[in-house]
Amino acid sequence: MFKKVLIANRGEIACRIIRACRELDVKAVAIHSQVDRESMHVRLADQSVCVGEASASDSYLNIPSIIAAAEISGADAIHPGYGFLAENTYFAEVCEACGLKFIGPSRESIEQMGDKIAAIELMKKSGVPVVPGSGGPISADDPKIFAMAKKIGYPVIIKATAGGGGKGMRIVTSEQTLQNAIIIAQTEAKAAFGNADVYMEKYIEEPHHIEFQILGDKYGKTAYLPERDCSIQRRHQKLVEESPSPLISESLRKKMGKAARHAAAAVKYVTIGTVEFLVDKKGRFYFMEMNTRIQVEHPITEMVTGIDLVKEQIKLAVGEKLSVISEKVKVSGHAIECRINAEDPDKDFIASPGKIGKLYLPGGPGIRIDTHVYSGYTIPPYYDSLIAKIISFGADRGESIARMQRALREVEIENVKNTASLHVKIMDSEQFRKGGVSTDFLSKHIFGK
Ligand code: ADP
Repeated sequence: MFKKVLIANRGEIACRIIRACRELDVKAVAIHSQVDRESMHVRLADQSVCVGEASASDSYLNIPSIIAAAEISGADAIHPGYGFLAENTYFAEVCEACGLKFIGPSRESIEQMGDKIAAIELMKKSGVPVVPGSGGPISADDPKIFAMAKKIGYPVIIKATAGGGGKGMRIVTSEQTLQNAIIIAQTEAKAAFGNADVYMEKYIEEPHHIEFQILGDKYGKTAYLPERDCSIQRRHQKLVEESPSPLISESLRKKMGKAARHAAAAVKYVTIGTVEFLVDKKGRFYFMEMNTRIQVEHPITEMVTGIDLVKEQIKLAVGEKLSVISEKVKVSGHAIECRINAEDPDKDFIASPGKIGKLYLPGGPGIRIDTHVYSGYTIPPYYDSLIAKIISFGADRGESIARMQRALREVEIENVKNTASLHVKIMDSEQFRKGGVSTDFLSKHIFGK
């Protein structure tokens, strides 16, 4: 086992990883920016190092500073969490070159899955179903795009090759708006990822976002865990996740799980990751992308399987053999996660940083809270707006929803606008309670009202 792990992240995920380290009897080193001195992850860690000024590029993305912090503190491994450097091949390479174990897959796996077009082509070759598409980058001034879109069939979606967080995406319903949409998506992609490449694929109407947690060891063994349904999204970004999905039958679960394992095996995947699929109205599924890191929504899988994914990830990075056997994993109950963001739902979700006054976060049976905030904590404006994850667990979906409903009503976050009230509306809505909603649920049933 590692002796000391440096966590190259902040916020709730840094706290989550520190907790896993503690349970494994591994020392945890926090890094922080100048404005994060008072952050919970710094308090929880055994040791902390300031790596730079407030802006992420000076601190949580500052590779030389982070590597120096690991060397000074005597860490033997680095956990990147999610976001920031988690899927940065250069960082993974530098870690390994400096003798620091990167707790994640190999640089090659990250690279193979980081370029979405290349990933889709690889999946096609491996027999995993993919969405019909351009198969390569497209440009607005290429006259062939019109025939291509016609062949794929409108509506189509333009997506960024380096995409993430739903940015750089445009749905196109007719050829009149095709060129413009490509240009806008390219501009957005360039601003968000520094890479303007975009591609085209069929827009699956009223789809469901279903993803599978996969695990792999360095001896070539892989496993999948039952699905997470992440169809409740705002602007292609997840807001609520649940497991298992009310939509997926046992036979479809097995088929999709097998495809997810194929995907993992195709890139010789080690540690944990997620294979994302879209499922259409007819129950057909298509590979969308693979995330080579721990996901925000991992706790719901932990709740229904009893497997601690972060500890599993660390053990697999050390080189331990995979102990999970998909066929033997017993799913019990049902779990839901609501992401509480410091955003104002009444003002188009504008970020709402600032100092939290009184804070009360719920508890009681079946409620887990993953957070880094506390009463008197100042949310800095520099990073993402996720301040807490409320996870409910119940014997069945009904109990899980009921627990989430009462937990959300207990939330009190003074002075900071947040998304708890939006989640109350979602949990109370008839369509959500019925189950199996598609990704247009929010625009149709919550904002459409
Ligand atoms: P990102 O990496 O930005 O999160 P994804 O490829 O994971 O992008 O897609 C995010 C969301 O965008 C999906 O969950 C889905 O709601 C929507 N989406 C992406 N591709 C398609 C498609 N071909 N058809 C319909 N919806 C799509």
